[in-house]
Amino acid sequence: MVPALGFCQRRGPVLGGGSQGQGRSGSRLVQCPPMLWVSEIFHSIQGESSRAGWPCVFVRLTGCNLRCVWCDTAYAFHEGRSMSVGEVVAEVERYRCPLVELTGGEPLLQPEAIPLMEELLRRGRRVLLETGGGLSIADVPRGVVRIVDVKCPGSGESDRNHWANLEILEGKDEIKFVVADRRDYSWASQQVRERDLTRRCSVLFSPVHGVLHPGDLARWVLDDGLPVRVQIQLHKILWPGAERGV
Ligand code: SF4
Repeated sequence: MVPALGFCQRRGPVLGGGSQGQGRSGSRLVQCPPMLWVSEIFHSIQGESSRAGWPCVFVRLTGCNLRCVWCDTAYAFHEGRSMSVGEVVAEVERYRCPLVELTGGEPLLQPEAIPLMEELLRRGRRVLLETGGGLSIADVPRGVVRIVDVKCPGSGESDRNHWANLEILEGKDEIKFVVADRRDYSWASQQVRERDLTRRCSVLFSPVHGVLHPGDLARWVLDDGLPVRVQIQLHKILWPGAERGV
């Protein structure tokens, strides 16, 4: 049987769906599920965090509330396609990969990110959330590994940090500082010490790619005896110059 053509006020013409009444043109109005705005879904090597090196499916959601000066994913501010939670899950499952990361942009800008994470967990995936740290993580399902950025002054967004997030992190979670220069390093190391962050979970220090030499950052950490993990973005070494989807 050919499904009836309807019109969803969010998505436009669609097939099927539950009827809600008649549109002005006489077409059936249908109720569509809440949607996600998705920049890209791709299979790659995890380039950051304690899972660096593992195959991972990335779901990059569109939109961000911040504008870090060194942002390398500005294309995710606006571009994307509308997908239901079920459609995203189906595309993720095509890769048969146990590790999934929800990233952005800022994934927590979209309310449907929460049911998406719940569904991925329910299907047995290990779920990582990478957030810019400007929004509350309080509604993120337990079981998700939360990787929370703390924005340094060099990003231009350090006054947007939602510090209360750090109070609810657990041992499985991670805190990430992206460091552009010595001033950022000094500020970040002060936060680590004053807030006793390494007591809560792993703390990552990552140099801004192409701006701060990783060896300089590593030397500062060693000289100070700071108990943080220096990381470099592995995907940028594997695929130098690639602009997206790696
Ligand atoms: S939070 Fe991430 S996506 Fe948003 S502007 Fe900063 S680096 Fe870019």
